[in-house]
Amino acid sequence: MPIIINLKEDLKNENFIQRNYSIPFKNLNLPEEYSSEKDNVDVNLYIIKEKDSYVLSMDIDSDIKLQCGRCLEPYHMHLTPKSNVVLSKKKLDGNSELSEEDLNVEYLEDEENFNLNELIREEILVDTPMKPLCSEDCKGICPICGANKNINPCNCEKEQKRKESPFSKLNQLLDKK
Ligand SMILES: [Zn+2]
Ligand SMILES: [Zn+2]
Repeated sequence: MPIIINLKEDLKNENFIQRNYSIPFKNLNLPEEYSSEKDNVDVNLYIIKEKDSYVLSMDIDSDIKLQCGRCLEPYHMHLTPKSNVVLSKKKLDGNSELSEEDLNVEYLEDEENFNLNELIREEILVDTPMKPLCSEDCKGICPICGANKNINPCNCEKEQKRKESPFSKLNQLLDKK
């Protein structure tokens, strides 16, 4: 079950609320390739009520499993997106003072049934690196022998270079002697 917030009711007598949630990872409906060793994603949420909108601020703390784009090994990443969203009760048009590009403004369709899970899902998707790397200096896979060079450094590429070098013929001749 997703977390549904009744903004109208919860911010009826207050202009500001702060809450902590621990949301089961599997309830976020992330794409299949997403998994986590932690069962929950922790969220610290602040909501401020404005005249025609709610300003939402979130700190998300998640741990996701990704596949390295270089060595293809799975690894864990501590993903902690921070998000600020303005949920506008008014339909957004081109003339509105807040342009959608400057600020993260979203139209709030249903004030009484705001789905927090959906917002968290979006934030995690946006924050996932396009080219995940297990480490900045991951050496990747050898294109010649297929070894993971982080674990089994091979000499294939050096060998290749040596063979292609203009001196290789000379070396071969010298070797024959
Ligand atoms: Zn890697
Ligand atoms: Zn190799």
